[in-house]
Amino acid sequence: MRIICLTPICLLLTCLTCLGQTNSWNNKKAAVVLTYDDAIPQHLYNAIPVLDSLHLKATFYITAFNAKAQINDWKKVALNGHELGNHTLFHPCIGGIKGREWVKSERNMNHYTVQQMLDEIRMTNVFLQALDGKTKRTFAYTCGDMTVNDTSFVDDIKKDFVAARGVHPGLLKIEQVNLFNINCFTANQTTATEMKQWIDQAINSGSLVVILFHGIGGGNPLNITVKDHSELLHYLKTKEKDIWIAPMLEVVNYIKKQQD
Ligand SMILES: [Zn+2]
Repeated sequence: MRIICLTPICLLLTCLTCLGQTNSWNNKKAAVVLTYDDAIPQHLYNAIPVLDSLHLKATFYITAFNAKAQINDWKKVALNGHELGNHTLFHPCIGGIKGREWVKSERNMNHYTVQQMLDEIRMTNVFLQALDGKTKRTFAYTCGDMTVNDTSFVDDIKKDFVAARGVHPGLLKIEQVNLFNINCFTANQTTATEMKQWIDQAINSGSLVVILFHGIGGGNPLNITVKDHSELLHYLKTKEKDIWIAPMLEVVNYIKKQQD
C-alpha cells in the first residue's frame, strides 16, 4: 500500500525531487571530476600544487611514453591520492582526417589492429600498476577514438577497466551515465568564468560534470592559463557544500552502485 504524506517536510522533499536536487551525488547536489590528459609536465608544476593546496583529488590520464622522464613524480602524485588513469602507451589516434595532420604514421590507429590497440592499453595498465600498485582504474580514449579500422574495441576493454571517458560534452544524471563513454567538457582557451558556468549548471541540474584539461600554462596547443585554472579550483572549493569533487574511479564506483 502506498502511503501518501502531506506533512511540510514530505512536500519539500517531493518538490526537491521534481527539481532533480535530491543530493544524490554522495549527499551533494552535483559531482565534479577533474581530468588531466597526456602526462604533460606542466600538470606536475602548474596543476598539482594548486590541487594539493586545496586538498582536491583529480584523475591524470597517463600516456606512458610521455611520463617516462618523470616516473618518480607521477609515483608521488598517486601516493598523494590522485588517480593515475590509462591513456595508452603511445597515444595513437585515427589519422589522415582533417585536423589530425599531427598524427604520425606509426601512431595512426588506421595502421593498427584491434589486438595491437588492446596490447598497448593492457601494457599501460602494467606500467601504471608498477607506479601505484593498483589493479582497478579508468581509461580515457585517445582523441575520443573508440574504433580501429571501424571495429569498436569498447567491449574488449570492459574487463580491464571500471569505466572509460570519451570527449563529447554533456551534463549527466546518474541514470544517464554510460560508463564506457563518459561525457566531458574540454577546457581550451576557456576562461574561469566560462568553466564556473559548467559547475553552476551541474549544481542546478543535479548532474555530473567532467572537465578535460590538457595544457595548464603551456605544454599543449589545447591550453588554459594557470590563473584561470587556479581560479576555477578555488571556486570549486567554495562550493564544496554542494559538490562532490573526487577522482573518476571513486565517482564511477558510486555510479555503478546506484545504477545497479
Ligand atoms: Zn590525449
